[in-house]
Amino acid sequence: MTLRLYNTLTSEKELFDSVKPGEVGIYLCGPTVYKPSHIGHAVGPVIFDVIKRYLTFKNFKVTWVLNVTDVEDKLIAEAEAQGRDMLELARDLERQYVDAMGAMGVKNIDYMPRASEHIQEIIDHINDLIEKGHAYVVEGDVYFDVSKDEDYGKLTNRKADDQESGTREGLVKAAKRNPGDFALWKAAKPGEPASAKYQAPWGVGRPGWHIECSAMAMKYLGKTFDIHGGGLDLKFPHHENEIAQAECATGQTFAKYWMHHGLTRFNTKKIAKSDPEMAKVMESLQIANLLKQHDPESLRFLILQSHYRSPIDFSDEVLKAAKSGLGTFRRLLERVERVTNSDPYKPEMQIERMRDAELDPRGRDLLDELMHLRVRFLEEMDDDFNTAGAIAVLFEIANAMNKYIDAAKLETHSDELPRNMLRAAGGTLVSLGNVLGLFERRPAARAIGDDGKLPQLVELLVNVRKMSREAKQYAIGDHIRDELTKLGITLEDGKDGTRWRID
Ligand SMILES: [Zn+2]
Repeated sequence: MTLRLYNTLTSEKELFDSVKPGEVGIYLCGPTVYKPSHIGHAVGPVIFDVIKRYLTFKNFKVTWVLNVTDVEDKLIAEAEAQGRDMLELARDLERQYVDAMGAMGVKNIDYMPRASEHIQEIIDHINDLIEKGHAYVVEGDVYFDVSKDEDYGKLTNRKADDQESGTREGLVKAAKRNPGDFALWKAAKPGEPASAKYQAPWGVGRPGWHIECSAMAMKYLGKTFDIHGGGLDLKFPHHENEIAQAECATGQTFAKYWMHHGLTRFNTKKIAKSDPEMAKVMESLQIANLLKQHDPESLRFLILQSHYRSPIDFSDEVLKAAKSGLGTFRRLLERVERVTNSDPYKPEMQIERMRDAELDPRGRDLLDELMHLRVRFLEEMDDDFNTAGAIAVLFEIANAMNKYIDAAKLETHSDELPRNMLRAAGGTLVSLGNVLGLFERRPAARAIGDDGKLPQLVELLVNVRKMSREAKQYAIGDHIRDELTKLGITLEDGKDGTRWRID
């Protein structure tokens, strides 16, 4: 079985052939941490988490880099509006992002470099481009000269048009050599915070967004690496510019494969942007808020039920369907546990590893079917990481297992052979699910939360704790916090009250 993936650079599904044998380097454009992430920001990390898991399953040693943009115009504006230090705000939002991703099972990122901590690498990269005649300085700004790059536009087949440079608008545009030239470095403007100012040979300022990604990708993955990913909205100009910067500097291919995931669509068309209702809806779509009400695994399941290149329509109905789909597997695994009296979430056997003597004669069909379905699962994943197809195969496996339990009446009577058979079938199901980051742990604690009562209960305890502290009954307050901690619920006191999360 060989892996094929859709390469945006060639608009074709290509056979995957890694730059270095046995190793894969992946760079995914990460968040600009200037406001809380919404569910759409989880799509890329969840998909690339699965891509890393699958490549690891195929015995590649994978290095995955996801950057954090913590020096940027929107962030500067937001910090000023909130009266906070830019980097302090960025760190807060980054922590929330990492917590939310962790809750959704994204735990395999190897490096999360921050732009603010790679200024020297960025300056060196820009210097290189200036020395090679690909960039020029205008009053403290540095621009990339698109007219000197014959290959410009090869990702999207677009020529450089007038890109939003975001710096002193008309004035600077007049100073640019070509309308499509874009900023590598932006000179500091009066009134900007000290944490957004860095000294470069051509003056004080901050890096542009595009250059941070090519500088950090090459630092961690080398001049040429395997996979560069991001949302479809980043193809132009961001990724086009990354290619131009990197390849003009090194003379080598930057990323061999470019993968772009679909964007999330919210059902907000009927609401005007200025309507206060819109702000409420957007707030409800923030991952931190969604995680208070919904099981993280069902959000992950929802994302993976679509092909990564398709858009995801996020709505209550879709969420409900994802929960119900996941419920099918959870109910089956409960059945497996009852019959086999062993923990299906920690499988010790898999059906593809069973010896003939271990087989239940009535389970022959199940064995044949699961062996076949397992191959189909891997074929779906080999076909451009088709997680939607892979999940459809998992449903077929669940169906076959339920039929076997019913037909052999295992819930009323079972002996050693069928129990082992079912244990192994469960092991196959769970280990394939694990490749997608599903069925990793027992959902017991979450089952209470599924009916929406858990958040209410925790809020109630948080309030009782607040009341007891106000009444100077600190011992009671501490007791509530400590007992909640034991249950894996962490309380964090902040300026705006107490926040909580389930670990
Ligand atoms: Zn990027």
